[in-house]
Amino acid sequence: MAEENKNLRTPIVCVMGHVDHGKTTLLDQIRGTAIVKGEAGAITQHIGATEVPIDVIVEKCGDKRLADKFIVPGLLFIDTPGHHAFTTLRSRGGSLADLAIVVVDINEGFKPQTIESLNILKRFKTPFIVVTNKIDRILNWKSHPGESFLSTYKKQTPEVQGIFEQKFYDVIGHLYEQGFSADRFDRVTDFQKTLGVVPISGLTGEGIPDVLMVLLGLAQRFLESSLHYDVNGPGVGTVLEVKEEKGLGTTVDVILYDGSLQKGDTIVIGCLGEPIVTKVRALLKPRELSEIRYESKFQPIPKVTAAAGVKISAPDIGDALAGAPVIQATPETLDEVIEKVKSEIDDVQIQTDTDGVMIKADTIGSLEAMVHEFKKADVMIQKAEVGDITKRDIMEASTINDPMHSVILAFNVKVNPDAEELMEQKVAHNVKIFKNDVIYRILEEYQDFVKEQEEELEQLQADTLIKPGQFKILPGCVFRQSKPAVVGVRILGGVVKNNTEVMLPDGTVVGTVKGLELSGKKIPKATVGMEVAMAIDGVTVGRQIKEEDILYVHIPESDSKVLEFEIFDTLTSDEQETLDKYLAIRRKDKPFWGK
Ligand code: GDP
Repeated sequence: MAEENKNLRTPIVCVMGHVDHGKTTLLDQIRGTAIVKGEAGAITQHIGATEVPIDVIVEKCGDKRLADKFIVPGLLFIDTPGHHAFTTLRSRGGSLADLAIVVVDINEGFKPQTIESLNILKRFKTPFIVVTNKIDRILNWKSHPGESFLSTYKKQTPEVQGIFEQKFYDVIGHLYEQGFSADRFDRVTDFQKTLGVVPISGLTGEGIPDVLMVLLGLAQRFLESSLHYDVNGPGVGTVLEVKEEKGLGTTVDVILYDGSLQKGDTIVIGCLGEPIVTKVRALLKPRELSEIRYESKFQPIPKVTAAAGVKISAPDIGDALAGAPVIQATPETLDEVIEKVKSEIDDVQIQTDTDGVMIKADTIGSLEAMVHEFKKADVMIQKAEVGDITKRDIMEASTINDPMHSVILAFNVKVNPDAEELMEQKVAHNVKIFKNDVIYRILEEYQDFVKEQEEELEQLQADTLIKPGQFKILPGCVFRQSKPAVVGVRILGGVVKNNTEVMLPDGTVVGTVKGLELSGKKIPKATVGMEVAMAIDGVTVGRQIKEEDILYVHIPESDSKVLEFEIFDTLTSDEQETLDKYLAIRRKDKPFWGK
């Protein structure tokens, strides 16, 4: 490592991608690299992260001269894969992860979480690479464990290479659709313009040396300025997880990205209310496997330096929030640090609307990501909070009348038992909860629900709305003069339903349809072209109506407005024509009727 750049910290790397595409396997492979290749003492065990020192990477790549080329001390991989960890690890409004790997199963291609990962990385402007995983599953692929991609690729038959190329360019095509110009990593000349894609097998380790090299290259090129840090400066980190540990009580797993931290230091941790001020009781790292004689899985250490993952045991940290900042303070800086932590939490102020759905998420970062995605999709949000779904949330949602807004959209949170109980009850019958651990899915499910609701509403409107209708009394078909009059009619346009009022062409409403029969059978409505027997109450044949008369369904003004201005396009052409005729009658004397 070049001497003068000693103070560059280890870049932090997150692995993202769709479920089952091989994130965990890739991380295991990298961890294996670190453990197998590293001599005793070369590897630092971390909480929630694995560090691969530069020497190990260089050795793996088989070219010792590279050691002088790179100035970062190694790579720190966050052990929990997924965009969830990525969004949890926020820092100063951005992401704590300096780099990311998006894993795509080359045989399956793009999936919702692949796209979600890309969107999140785009938004945070995090440099990343894509790996097309599981190349060993390509038909007839001959595995060469641990080799670089090009080396194993050259040893495949032309047929296998052909199948690979086809699958690989499918992925490149999908990336293009998502707005990325991408190419195989060894053909990329400018990683700022072109996204590097590395074909790998997480299982056999093929391509892993390339992944490590490309990541180092990215760190070198794009992160150098942001990786400088002060070894002796105050420790700054982000809470990865708040965890109960046997014998330790509540602990926080923290990824430290700047400065250092010692046992006994005062720290300030963000939470929903006033920040927590406490003292580090113990700093813990995982105990080596060889030391199983100890009861605890953890080993206390006196000091930790960024970048590192560490478990902190301290009093009163039960309210600490995943994703919140942790900053070391001295008596002189305490007030300032409290303000800083508070303002970072306040920065997550989420702009809400006066109307809309409720959003619950498990961390500040995921809440931000959710709100962002939902706003992009024009979903109105009334409330957005970190935490499980409580009874109060259900109560609140149940008071909202709009079925599209009495909804709780929940990401990675639980429904509390008393809230669950309330959901069973009548008061909460209108509350809907959409829960998932993929933001996309929640959005999709909610959008489907909205669509369904809108269609139902339209249907309801259509059912109660009085539609246009026009009919003629047929000659020789008067079956009864009055009380009610029963006549044979032909529907000339639109539809005539039972219980609708009828009107003469001069605008006089004369009676009400009190029964429709077709071939002796009662029917609820008659449509264009049908010849039916119609009972009309309130009229006498020969007085208000006579044979050959043309009558209209009387449409109230309010319904007419909906028909003409809201759903005209959905009417059939004969309904449209009939409505036009009806409006002409109405507007003869009153030009603004129904406008
Ligand atoms: P995750 O959900 O993204 O973390 O995926 P996992 O790492 O758990 O992998 C899902 C499944 O795919 C497991 O059965 C793995 O053994 C398998 N798998 C992962 N990577 C590879 C690979 O490169 N080749 C093959 N053949 N199988 C793999």
